[in-house]
Amino acid sequence: AKEGGRGAYRFFKREMDETIRERRTLARELRQAIIDEALVVHYQPLARAADGEVCGFEALVRWNHPTRGMVPPLEFIPVAEENGLIAQLGEWVLRRACADAASWERPLRIAVNLSPLQLNQPNLPILVHEVLVQTGLSPKRLELEVTESALFKDYQRALDNLRRLKALGVRIAMDDFGTGFSSLSTLQSFPFDKIKIDKSFVENIHRHDRATVIVRAVLGLGRSLDIPCVAEGVETQEQIDFLRGEDCAELQGYAIGRPAAVDTLSAWTLASKA
Ligand code: C2E
Ligand code: CA
Ligand code: CA
Ligand code: CA
Repeated sequence: AKEGGRGAYRFFKREMDETIRERRTLARELRQAIIDEALVVHYQPLARAADGEVCGFEALVRWNHPTRGMVPPLEFIPVAEENGLIAQLGEWVLRRACADAASWERPLRIAVNLSPLQLNQPNLPILVHEVLVQTGLSPKRLELEVTESALFKDYQRALDNLRRLKALGVRIAMDDFGTGFSSLSTLQSFPFDKIKIDKSFVENIHRHDRATVIVRAVLGLGRSLDIPCVAEGVETQEQIDFLRGEDCAELQGYAIGRPAAVDTLSAWTLASKA
């Protein structure tokens, strides 16, 4: 048993070394990818629940890797955060998304995700202001999505940044609502412009009684606080009907449209029926 234990340790050690090596390679490649502009931003539509009209898009970054293909963000955002690359990456996404949105004929909203580290950078509001000026995008068309974990690192700094961003006229959405440890107190501390109900609740509408009750309660909370809600991860007509019936403001998910490259968007905006 002792031998086996040591063997297992060696095995895990080897596995760990490999993981570390792989992460290092990934970090090195990512640094180059940012320089080479090998990142792409895909856009997923958000629809007004009442009539299914597309009212905006969320920018979702992907990495067009030479051998791995399209790498999803959950595989490299953490690497970027660990290696100090997230500021540069986040700035690139913000710039790209604002520039793309500024070129659209319809003044649709554009939602951009902020990583916790970005929200804690003292110069974030200045950067956002600069990007808006340079791209000519109206601040009221930009919506920044933050998760509550972004508020934990340096609470005062994060709140101060959010206030300064709001003062620019930018809207702030609370992303992944309900998945953190203190969603309610986060909501109490800052006047968010929007609540995004996490897809882990939405996907269970009509599947688990509790999820249905929770979604209904969050929508009620939003109504009472006068904060519009978006449901994420809407995949079925049944979910659309329920959310519409419960007065959810906006819908996002595969049932509305999948994230896609910018040059395929016009078709969507035209054929926007939920
Ligand atoms: P998120 O902000 O919660 O984004 C929603 C994720 O759900 C996206 O995954 C989207 O493709 C996926 N999704 C949308 N509709 C559906 C649906 O109907 N069903 C299911 N199962 N999934 C759906 P994606 O693009 O892989 O992004 C994952 C996460 O990576 C995002 O979660 C966000 O936290 C992060 N992320 C993406 N882009 C950026 C970025 O530019 N900056 C930062 N900091 N994070 C980003
Ligand atoms: Ca988001
Ligand atoms: Ca989300
Ligand atoms: Ca999520």
